[in-house]
Amino acid sequence: MHRRWCHGGLVQLASTVDADLALSVLAAATTQIQAHRASLDALDSEIGDGDHGTSLAEGFARAYQGTEAALASSPASSAGEVFLVFGQRLREYARGASGGLYAALFMGLGRSLADISDAGLDALAAAFTAAAGEISHRGGARPGEATMLDSVCPYAERLRRAVEDGEPLALALDDAYRAACEGAEATTEMVPIHGRARSWGKQAVGHVDPGARSFSLVAGAFSAVVGDS
Ligand code: ADP
Ligand code: MG
Repeated sequence: MHRRWCHGGLVQLASTVDADLALSVLAAATTQIQAHRASLDALDSEIGDGDHGTSLAEGFARAYQGTEAALASSPASSAGEVFLVFGQRLREYARGASGGLYAALFMGLGRSLADISDAGLDALAAAFTAAAGEISHRGGARPGEATMLDSVCPYAERLRRAVEDGEPLALALDDAYRAACEGAEATTEMVPIHGRARSWGKQAVGHVDPGARSFSLVAGAFSAVVGDS
């Protein structure tokens, strides 16, 4: 357990993520997506059909409720089990291209972490790397093509580097969150070749990819919850 001073008090920082913490991360991510619903819709209306925030906010809220209900009758013993249930619910409820891709992300995390009761930084780094692979496999995109992967991949890469550098989990998640935000901003320089933004071609340059921005909000939820626990 690492500690840091915060607001004048000593705060305990988790070095692993268990089932309870994973559910708190999902609650925070759902709240973040709902709070940014309008701004995500606005980004999507610039280079898409304007529904990204609304689709995700509804999908995350229903998936979160479904996850809570499922865990109440059958408690999870790892973060992976929680993410897997959430991903399965998201697959049922979420709409749009991003719904299926976020379902792939959480199911990828879930499969990687299912047998690890307390997931440390190395396990999380491997799980996000696998989850990025699931998104790429499902959608056919690679980094540099202006999609959510341009936020997910820098996030996973920064976590892997933190493992090599022996960083504590909370610090690694904060650094990776910044990398995810920078990755989302960098999509302004890319020409999209996937999804609805594809039809905008070079005219999409200068616009942030909505899915990359929404993933940075999910990354922020990991930092906020794990860093504050
Ligand atoms: P839709 O385009 O069906 O309306 P959303 O608006 O919810 O779906 O989501 C759009 C986001 O989905 C994009 O900003 C992008 O990040 C992501 N996306 C779309 N297609 C792909 C793909 N093939 N691979 C990865 N991400 C993609
Ligand atoms: Mg859309």
